[in-house]
Amino acid sequence: MRQNIVAGNWKMNNTLEEGVTLAKEVNEILKANKPNCKVVLGTPFIHLSEAVKAVDCDVIGIAAQNCADKVSGAYTGETSAAMVKSTGAQYVILGHSERRAYYGETNAILKEKTDLALANDLTPIFCIGEVLEEREADKHFDVVKTQIEEALFHLSPEAFGKVVLAYEPVWAIGTGKTASPEQAQEIHAFIRQTLADKYGAEVADNTSILYGGSCKPSNAKELFANPDVDGGLIGGASLKAEDFHGIIAAF
Ligand code: PEP
Repeated sequence: MRQNIVAGNWKMNNTLEEGVTLAKEVNEILKANKPNCKVVLGTPFIHLSEAVKAVDCDVIGIAAQNCADKVSGAYTGETSAAMVKSTGAQYVILGHSERRAYYGETNAILKEKTDLALANDLTPIFCIGEVLEEREADKHFDVVKTQIEEALFHLSPEAFGKVVLAYEPVWAIGTGKTASPEQAQEIHAFIRQTLADKYGAEVADNTSILYGGSCKPSNAKELFANPDVDGGLIGGASLKAEDFHGIIAAF
């Protein structure tokens, strides 16, 4: 069954102490206000094990924001999927546009990362989305299709069924510009049809497709009201417990 999910992406913010405080704040709010969706906190690696301890894991999942494309060994500075799993985290955000743009992550690299995440029983929250020039040139459908095909379509239907997708138009990330509800629905429906063409209607129907890009309490409800928008991946607004809850409460 398709799940509604609101996932925070803290990016490179918060010291360990600040992160634990934020995780506890979100946990307290959700204890008092049971959410109508799955909630995930995407923290820096060093926060993961403490964040797992700070929250009720039945309600709040914990995600890394990346993992290595190698199993283990002499890869200084990298963190493997097995290491992420050993912290108690259940999710990993993969292919975020900042990783693609600043750290050269290609669809081929992301294919390896996805395989390792799944092999370690982590749920990938796999990000796709076009940059502004691609949207303006009307290439956004082709761009997201290629990202999905090259990084994910080698998966069996069973393996693909464990993946969560996050459509994030790069021009909307951290810019205050949000895709309109109509733009979000149009491309989410296209993504779901792409999945149906490859894996059949059942897999497509069961896949959660999140929207990301300047989502906030004031616009979450109209975005999430779309039939093919199953929640959000939230950057800036996930750094304040009240704002994050305002988005969760849209469900
Ligand atoms: C993100 O980085 O995934 C994101 C959606 O950021 P923001 O909400 O700040 O636009």
